Amino acid sequence: MIKGFRGTSLVDFPGKIASVIFTYTCNFRCPYCYNVELVNPEYYQNLETLPEETILKELKRRKGFIKGVVITGGEPTLWGKKLVSLLEKIKVESDLAIKLDTNGSQPELVKFLIENKLIDYLALDFKTSPKRYGEVGGNFEKVKKTLFLLEKFLENSEVRITLYPPLVGFKELKEMLPFLKGIKNLALQKFLPEKTLKEERVKPYKLEFYQKIHAYLEEKLPEVKIWVRYE
Ligand code: SF4
Repeated sequence: MIKGFRGTSLVDFPGKIASVIFTYTCNFRCPYCYNVELVNPEYYQNLETLPEETILKELKRRKGFIKGVVITGGEPTLWGKKLVSLLEKIKVESDLAIKLDTNGSQPELVKFLIENKLIDYLALDFKTSPKRYGEVGGNFEKVKKTLFLLEKFLENSEVRITLYPPLVGFKELKEMLPFLKGIKNLALQKFLPEKTLKEERVKPYKLEFYQKIHAYLEEKLPEVKIWVRYE
């Protein structure tokens, strides 16, 4: 399940120094995805799988210094019971706060994790307008359910939108707006034209465009804290 581990991160868990666990495989195919090694089987089958025990030991060793652990991917929720078991062990052995990054495709599992207090922070990627979800290989009805679940966390959650020009412009944002009304935090992420899943030349928006989008969303979502991540 685990193909990567970063011992210390200052940027992946808001307000906490955290370790990051990378799971592999994903059921979406976002063209701008830069975790190609974790999504494309051609790459991840050649990556070493890290034993869970090693990761749990590493977390214990860092306890006192790190305050949290981020589970990211790929799409971690595809691991179902294996993910549940890992989170339970982290809670019992290290008692760290857990942040889960998800594409929102497995609301039933997210509900279970919330109800069993196995996650403390939820970050959900909202990819594009509902009617265009098929283009990333997703089912918006599932994502919508996860969005409603996320609202339970309010302070301890964020929705993230990657401003990838072919999938997210003003038209799409307008159609995404009704689903953002109940959230608390919204992170707008710049698209980075690095090594991506779909090898194509896409130019990111210019700085002024990010500012325009930011101002537009602030006007439409006065209750939501919005920030732009430029890296
Ligand atoms: S959901 Fe995330 S990991 Fe999966 S393809 Fe999209 S960006 Fe990549």
